[in-house]
Amino acid sequence: MKRILILQTGGTIAMQIRRESNGEMVNTQSDSLIRYIPELSQIADIECRELFFKDSSDMSTADWVVIIEAIRDTYNSFDGFVVLHGTDTLAYTASAVSFAFKNLTKPIIFTGSQVPMSVIRSDAKRNLINAIQMATLPFNEVAVCFSDKIFRANRSTKLSIGEFNAFNSPNFAPLAEIGLDINIKHSLPPSALPMECFPVFSEDVIVLRLFPGMKPKQFLRLFENGTRSVILSGFGSGNFPVSGEYSLIPLLEKCAEKNIFVVMASQALYDSVDLEKYSSGRIARDLGVISARDMTLEAALTKMMYLLGRYKSPYQIRDRYLRSLRGEMTTE
Ligand code: ASP
Repeated sequence: MKRILILQTGGTIAMQIRRESNGEMVNTQSDSLIRYIPELSQIADIECRELFFKDSSDMSTADWVVIIEAIRDTYNSFDGFVVLHGTDTLAYTASAVSFAFKNLTKPIIFTGSQVPMSVIRSDAKRNLINAIQMATLPFNEVAVCFSDKIFRANRSTKLSIGEFNAFNSPNFAPLAEIGLDINIKHSLPPSALPMECFPVFSEDVIVLRLFPGMKPKQFLRLFENGTRSVILSGFGSGNFPVSGEYSLIPLLEKCAEKNIFVVMASQALYDSVDLEKYSSGRIARDLGVISARDMTLEAALTKMMYLLGRYKSPYQIRDRYLRSLRGEMTTE
């Protein structure tokens, strides 16, 4: 029987509605989660560890490192890993974890739920069973399991606050669909090289979502205090204003002057940024702006945080950013 490690980090999935209070949510221990579903022992030999208990909005890169190190340190003792996580920032953590592990030969499956396990109509049971089942299969990447689908972690994003199928991967087909059987459609090929782990992330980054009427001048001071990269969430294929007080060009010039990496992502979820299509894009390209192509914002950000943490040389950071490292972007 496959050995699976479940890492508990918090979120709705492990919350419980305290009966005596007015609906206040309190946490429950991870092994009691398993007690809700005793049949899990038919799927795998399961061990649970509670790393911490947080609402995922409260998580930072230090928490990502705790998760990564817990997996790294037990990598040889288990066949697969399931991380229980709040849904709000799950796509960020899962993307970050995907960058930290190179040459994975075991599944790391993130899941959570929209409704606590203790509530009768919860989606937690189904998500947890599916995630554990998925973690027993030969699969070499970090993935998100939610509502009968498995998405590549660094392609996934939370799309719904209220629907059971809260996640999707807009620019990449699900890796697997779960019906009577788990149907793995595609996955990264296994590597013959040993697994490597780099739990390092820089927090010297800014994400700036453009909006009509935004005066970039007001944001220039954001770049004074050690910022090393700015991820811009631009319009459509990577467009931005170029005239008058709304022009983004002075901000891009300032970043170029200070060697701040600028990445252009898009507010549109589907398809790819194209800095060749319009003149603003070509100006950006000439000022050294990097296209996020079809990466999710979560992947565009965590990839940069990882590369800034891992490499010193600006050449290496840019060079690695332009490549697909873990299947996070389409490169043709
Ligand atoms: N606020 C919760 C969290 O992200 C939401 C959830 O788990 O669905 O931790």
